[in-house]
Amino acid sequence: MLIQILGSAAGGGFPQWNCTCANCSSLRAGTMRGKARTQTQIAFSPTDGVWFLVCASPDLRTQLVGARELSPSSETAGHSPIAGVFLPSADVDAVMGLLHLREFQNFFVFATPAVQRVVRNENPIFRVLDRANPPVQWQTLASNRRIGCHLSENSGDPPTFFYSTIPLAGNYPDYASEDVRRGGSPGDACVGFLLEQENKKLFIAPTLSGHNSEWIKLAAAANVALLDGTFWSDEELLATGRTKKTARAMGHLPLSGAEGLLAQYPKDAAGRKILIHINNTNPILDENSEEHHAVVDAGFEIAYDGLTIEL
Ligand SMILES: [Zn+2]
Repeated sequence: MLIQILGSAAGGGFPQWNCTCANCSSLRAGTMRGKARTQTQIAFSPTDGVWFLVCASPDLRTQLVGARELSPSSETAGHSPIAGVFLPSADVDAVMGLLHLREFQNFFVFATPAVQRVVRNENPIFRVLDRANPPVQWQTLASNRRIGCHLSENSGDPPTFFYSTIPLAGNYPDYASEDVRRGGSPGDACVGFLLEQENKKLFIAPTLSGHNSEWIKLAAAANVALLDGTFWSDEELLATGRTKKTARAMGHLPLSGAEGLLAQYPKDAAGRKILIHINNTNPILDENSEEHHAVVDAGFEIAYDGLTIEL
């Protein structure tokens, strides 16, 4: 399996257009040792010429145009190698890219019932996806189910890969209706994915609320884990003055602190652990910062746009 990180920042990207935090200011000024990043977008290829997306980033069009492997080919049925999109949540930065895929193309979208309700029923703009003939096909994700995905033309062949959906106990986005925010199943708001192929495992959770712990064993047993690296500290966003919410209130387990991801993650996990969905305020983006070194010393990698992983 080939994995491409097309975008590694949280919503807003890095730098963010209206932000004057220390990171955004110094990156703009050219005085920071660090990289600009687009909003989180993961792509994986379980077999030659077939790609799946995880998240649908607001930067998706630019990300696809910049990735040669994901370009359309007249030799491919339907032209695009993109077979489907896995949605971990209905967050704006996880679904907005669907609108970039609206050009009369048929593909699969995998999402929980509640995420489908928010995207398909509550936001009619996404009905542009129905214009494809045949229309985009929605597949319902059920928590803790392991599903085989067959891509071979021979129906007797084993599945090309397996995917499991892991509930992460996150929040529904603020823009969702009161009905969904109050009545939607908590397990359907935000999910992670475990992809398995030939005894290799990839765990993906760009958003981790930290409100449950079922995911920890699965992540630690994976060969590669892509983990929520949004915020260094719980209070990080308060300093910008744009919100009064802590990281935890926004559904993100911070990296630092006694209860943070770095402290909680099993020390004996053998696989690669890679932080993704990094907010522009996060000091780990500054490669000269203490926080950057603390993360690297703890054995974590920090995802960047263009990172390729072979599994
Ligand atoms: Zn900023």
